[in-house]
Amino acid sequence: MVMEIDLGPQAEKFRLEFRDWLEANKPASLEGYDDPNANPDTPELIDWAEKLREGGYLCVTWPEKFGGRGLSAAEVAVMNEELHAAGLPRVTRGMGENLVGPAIIAHGTDDQRERFLPRIISGEDRYCQGFSEPDSGSDLASLKTRGIIDGDELVITGQKVWTSWFWRANMLFCLCRTDPEAPKHQGISYVLIPLKRDDGSENGIEFRPLRQITGESHFAETFIEEARAPLSNVIGGLNNGWRVAMTTLGSERGGSATTQHVQFRREFWKLVKAARERGKIEDPIVRQRLAWAYSRVEVMRYQGLRLLSALLADQNPGPGGSINKMYWSEYQRRMAEYAVEILGPESMIVGEEYELEYFQRQFLQTRGHTIWGGTAEIQRNIVGERLLGLPKEPRPS
Ligand SMILES: Cc1cc2nc3c(=O)[nH]c(=O)nc-3n(C[C@H](O)[C@H](O)[C@H](O)COP(=O)(O)OP(=O)(O)OC[C@H]3O[C@@H](n4cnc5c(N)ncnc54)[C@H](O)[C@@H]3O)c2cc1C
Repeated sequence: MVMEIDLGPQAEKFRLEFRDWLEANKPASLEGYDDPNANPDTPELIDWAEKLREGGYLCVTWPEKFGGRGLSAAEVAVMNEELHAAGLPRVTRGMGENLVGPAIIAHGTDDQRERFLPRIISGEDRYCQGFSEPDSGSDLASLKTRGIIDGDELVITGQKVWTSWFWRANMLFCLCRTDPEAPKHQGISYVLIPLKRDDGSENGIEFRPLRQITGESHFAETFIEEARAPLSNVIGGLNNGWRVAMTTLGSERGGSATTQHVQFRREFWKLVKAARERGKIEDPIVRQRLAWAYSRVEVMRYQGLRLLSALLADQNPGPGGSINKMYWSEYQRRMAEYAVEILGPESMIVGEEYELEYFQRQFLQTRGHTIWGGTAEIQRNIVGERLLGLPKEPRPS
């Protein structure tokens, strides 16, 4: 039996409050609609997002003065648990809420917070991320996209790649080099670029979708030709973008650690059900693998609680987020491999008209999870050097 952890009186008070709100507001039609691959643009999910917004349950970790709810990590864990129990999805504003928002809160001016944060909460601004370039992925600071000052604007030209969620976005948060003479980490700026100009014309940004192994095109190559953004859209000051980017990457690596086990646990039981239905639950190898998966989900749960304690004690988990990213992404890949083995020959069904089954999709999709947000090898370097104090890897000077 899983030991339940008491998250403290404040979190339990919030639990009761949120449970009441859910009872009064939950849409019956969304029950069981908590698949991580669900399309956020269905009318049902748009309505649900709107209800959560009206209730003040979007961007909940942001401080109240910026339109959030100032929830502690323990309260967010409670919120996720309650949504999970009700079979309802947690709606986030994607990269706006989790990646750009925290960077604007930490490094933006008051004017920038006022201009950009409410539009993320309302859903008016939907961001995609322009960090990686064809020759600058792991070594992000070597990026070449240029930003040249022209009056009170920045004019940006270059190429990005792997731009996820481009098809929903109206804004690109982008790293560009604004001082080519400075050491590579010091000449970078972090700028928010609208995809359209004020008059509605294109702003010099072209996306060329890349077809993925799942057959979908969720990300693109991004060609930027003299795109313009006001200098007032540079977050954290000119040439100071590396620090701002580190806030974004920290959120990307550690952000969901305290609550993600909920999703992994749900997926685990889905696989147990699939094994039962196929008469494989007594197979000793299947049982061993399920035990492997179950114990890792529990490890992630405790790792999440450890991170939660650090957050509650106001300690920045720092490079600890790298342990999390490495662990869950490698777990998911292996779990999906075991899952397709359990499904057996049916996992090989593919075709233009055929919609991939959940675990088939996970098998293909999780290949990329050990890559985005910093590869598993890069996370190992960070853990080795910054947590374990091992000698630094040799780097070309
Ligand atoms: C699904 C997905 C979504 C993505 N979404 C976005 C997005 O929205 N926006 C965006 O900007 N980027 C995005 N990316 C890009 C992602 O951040 C990069 O792919 C990643 O940082 C790796 O860079 P790279 O592909 O250039 O590989 P490289 O950096 O060329 O690495 C190639 C291989 O070498 C290894 N390697 C490199 N350097 C080292 C080292 N120092 N030590 C040990 N091993 C090393 C890597 O681990 C990897 O195995 C996405 C990627 C994927 C797969």
